[in-house]
Amino acid sequence: MEDGVTRPPDRIRVRRSPKKGRYERDTVEAILDRALVAHVAFVDRGEPVCIPMLYARVGGKLYIHGSRASRTMRLLARAQQVCVTVTVIQGLVLARSAFEHSANYESVVAFGRFEPIEDAAERLSALAAFTDKILPGRGGEVRQPNAKELKATTILAMQIEQVSAKVRSGPPRFQSSPPSASQSTHPASGQASRSPQASRH
Ligand SMILES: Cc1cc2nc3c(=O)[nH]c(=O)nc-3n(C[C@H](O)[C@H](O)[C@H](O)COP(=O)(O)OP(=O)(O)OC[C@H]3O[C@@H](n4cnc5c(N)ncnc54)[C@H](O)[C@@H]3O)c2cc1C
Repeated sequence: MEDGVTRPPDRIRVRRSPKKGRYERDTVEAILDRALVAHVAFVDRGEPVCIPMLYARVGGKLYIHGSRASRTMRLLARAQQVCVTVTVIQGLVLARSAFEHSANYESVVAFGRFEPIEDAAERLSALAAFTDKILPGRGGEVRQPNAKELKATTILAMQIEQVSAKVRSGPPRFQSSPPSASQSTHPASGQASRSPQASRH
């Protein structure tokens, strides 16, 4: 992750709407901690696959877990290059025109390779992180995993090699757009006014 303001490497440089690009560690980590589902993309026998999974971040690592029998876990344990994305939708952006509709979001695209975690202490702290991510503090309230559960579970960690975030916030971009014929006869149907979500922007 980037700590300074140097130009980001080509692979992670946000080119479309570059002002929405963020590369600072704090921003990236905050989004990773807010989002719940990671989409993990990899190649299986030459074909692209993208699988939704729960995850947890600890420091600069992303942890995932799953059954030892899982195709995804078996392939990812071989340290192939992966791309992991997460998204938080903050609200929907309603506008006068279809073209101007959008969403306010925070998203992260991270690259790296997963590796199996065999160290018992690290496995337990990763499992606690998964539980606490679902509900903060929950890890200390529940029965801890037993030997059978631990044996059945593969835990993988990815050291984030390169990462970018992209953040959109605020109202529709082109607020000077003229209303449609129906909107001009119904003033209440103008931009960003028809949904509770719209009022959040
Ligand atoms: C919100 C969410 C959180 C999840 N969290 C975890 C987790 O933490 N750990 C975990 O191991 N699994 C998790 N899963 C399940 C995960 O998405 C996979 O189904 C599972 O990991 C098995 O992967 P596989 O490649 O071994 O499946 P396989 O059955 O071998 O996949 C074969 C094909 O089945 C289809 N498929 C597989 N999974 C899905 C899916 N979720 N939706 C639609 N089609 C699918 C795809 O076409 C895939 O190519 C989660 C799913 C969701 C939706």
